[in-house]
This record gives sequence, C-alpha cells and structure tokens, in this order.
Amino acid sequence: MKINSKLPHVGTTIFSVMSALANENKAINLSQGFPDFAASEYLLERLNYHATAGRNQYAPMNGVPELREAIADLIGDCYGRKVDAETEITLASGATEALFVAVQAIIRPGDDVILLDPAYDSYEPAITLAGGSCTRLSLVPPRYQPDWQQIEDSIKPNTRLIMVNSPHNPTATAFTDSDWRELERIADKHNLLVISDEVYEHIVFERERNSAHRYPGLAERTFVVSSFGKTFHVTGWKLGYCVAPPALSEEFRKVHQFVTFTSFTPAQYAVADMLTEKRDEVHALGAFYQRKRDCFIHAMRGSRFELLPSAGTYFVLADYSALSDLNDVDYCHQLTREHGVAAIPLSVFYETPPESRIVRFCFAKREQTLIDAAARLKTL
Ligand code: PMP
Ligand code: GLN
Repeated sequence: MKINSKLPHVGTTIFSVMSALANENKAINLSQGFPDFAASEYLLERLNYHATAGRNQYAPMNGVPELREAIADLIGDCYGRKVDAETEITLASGATEALFVAVQAIIRPGDDVILLDPAYDSYEPAITLAGGSCTRLSLVPPRYQPDWQQIEDSIKPNTRLIMVNSPHNPTATAFTDSDWRELERIADKHNLLVISDEVYEHIVFERERNSAHRYPGLAERTFVVSSFGKTFHVTGWKLGYCVAPPALSEEFRKVHQFVTFTSFTPAQYAVADMLTEKRDEVHALGAFYQRKRDCFIHAMRGSRFELLPSAGTYFVLADYSALSDLNDVDYCHQLTREHGVAAIPLSVFYETPPESRIVRFCFAKREQTLIDAAARLKTL
C-alpha cells in the first residue's frame, strides 16, 4: 500500500546509519554520541535497589516528586534560578521526547521556526509534523557563531519560536554571555518563544556553565531541555526533562501525557538519589570530559586531520581536506569500512551544507579507545 509520507525527505537518522556501519565493519565507533564506559556503581546500585523495592509501576505523569525537587535544587545550585518543582519541571523519556513535545505544544500550521545550522536532526521533523515551517540560518564558520543581526532580520510576522542548542552538537561551541543576552533581547522584542536544548550543559571546558536559566527575560519564555543520559553516562535510560514557566509547562504536559505519559520509574528514583548524594559528580563532569578531549587531541598530534576547537559537549570537529576530496558522507563511509574508525559527517545537519570537508568525532570513550582510534587515523 502506498502512503503519502508526512516526512518525504526524511530517511534513517545518521546516528543509526553510522553505528550500524561501525558494527558491521567492527570499526571503533566515534560516530553516534554515547560513552563506552560504565556509569557510576552507585547509580546502578540505586536502580537495582528501587526496582527490587517494588517501585515499578507508573510514576506520576510529571515525574516523581523526589526527582523534580532534586532538579530544582541543581538548577538553583548551577545558575541561581529558583524553579518550582511542582509547576515548572516535567520529566520526559529523553531530551528527544521533551523537544518533540515542546514543539507540538506550541507550533501550529503556518508558524515559522528559526533553526541555526548545523542543527540537531530531530528538530525539523518535529516542526514539520506540527505543520510549521523552518527558517534555517547558518552559524558562521570557522567558529560557528550566531549572527544575531541576520537572525533578527529574518524574523517574519509568523515567526513563533527559535530553537537553540548550547553547548552545541555537532560544532562543540558554546554561547557566550553576549549570545545569551542577544537571544534574550531579540526574543523579548519580537515576542518569540524559545526552546533551549541544553543536554550538554555540564560539559564545558575552561569556562563557567551557562544557561537560559540565568537570564530572567529569557527564562520566562523558554522551554529548557536537558538529559540525564549525557550527565550520568546512561544514554540508553532515555531520561530527560523540560523546565518552563507554569503556563508553558501546562501546555507541555497536555501533550506529554499522550505521548509517553510517564518515564521509567526506577531510573527516576535512582537519578534523584544520584543528584542528592553525588551532586559533585555533576559539577566535575566538565573536567572529566576535558581530560578525554585532551587525551584525544594529544593522541591525534601528527595526524593530517585538523581538529577544530572544542569548548563543550563530547564532540570535536575535524577538517580532513588535507586527506581527501570525497564529500563528508562518502568519506565517513570510507573511514569506517577501510580504516576502522566511524565518524559523523557534518553536512547532514544543514539545509544547505557549506563547501567544507568536516567530520565529527565523539570522545566519550575510554582513553584506550581514543588512543587506538587516533593510531588508525594517524596512518592516513
Ligand atoms: N539534543 C542534542 C543536541 C543531542 O545531542 C541529543 C542526543 N544525544 C539529544 C538532544 C537527545 O537526547 P536524549 O538521548 O536524552 O533523547
Ligand atoms: N545525540 C547523539 C549524537 O549526536 C545521538 C542520539 C541518537 O542516536 N539519536 O550522536
């Protein structure tokens, strides 16, 4: 039976494609972003404890109160914002669900959304399914900064929302204070809603963490989305959350209750314990990943890849123009098949890709994995 696709231009996400190719070729997988090391023993013990203690039925739709309180506390701790756990925090099954739900809650047919390319691949399909359109503007290479003048000039009467992501996947950049202030100014002046994807909020290097939470004029119109998958090395637990003012959270919850209703109960209790008892591990995450970044950079010395600066996330971009004339998608396939290292091409995150030869490596890996991958890459 033929059906008229609602997403005619969407194929299988690059993360599934590249991880499958890596497995097929037994390549070292630096493509899809996930750690190859274990999560904290304490966290795993708490998961087991709560499951064994019988906390296995539906959690409250908004998330268990212990976890919402712990998140409110963490936000106070990190950014000095006071958030009401009851009316402003909703747990979701991963940041992916939270982003999707926020878009469905606010976008109607005819609304336009500003995205900054390269943009995470789940944003545009969520907007399309809600009947909205996208205006995709590029972050300005080589440093992938937002051009706020261009962003403001592109606002139309039907522009309803801007989606941002800092620290940024895939460019590994992070907004400066002045970027956040410009976003705050523009959103306020043009009465835009904002979705701020902050799943890598704790993974920043040589700088303070920053967030929409810190800017009151922004926070009052923003859905801030984060994920414990990144923070606690458990991407497979799919536990994320959305923080938004009560009126926005109310609309978010109307949709969330009919998408997943609620998320895996024992994990919510386990993460609540982690946030309460081992909060320091969250604060130490930037330094933890900085060591991995530096290990990879060091191991890649002498290679013909040019690594671009990585200010946050667990990714680093690499320019391979000295190595090949292939486009980045073909190059990633070749790298995986012939040289045993999988990476992600940059162009797939663009509406109109620039003329560059750049791939993304994930360094959320054991040091030995990074050293082995670099050894293979250095032979090129
Ligand atoms: N946003 C960005 C920028 C991401 O990199 C990811 C995934 N890793 C997500 C959202 C989705 O997070 P989750 O796995 O919690 O759904
Ligand atoms: N966000 C992860 C990445 O950028 C992948 C998530 C996924 O596979 N959907 O690699």
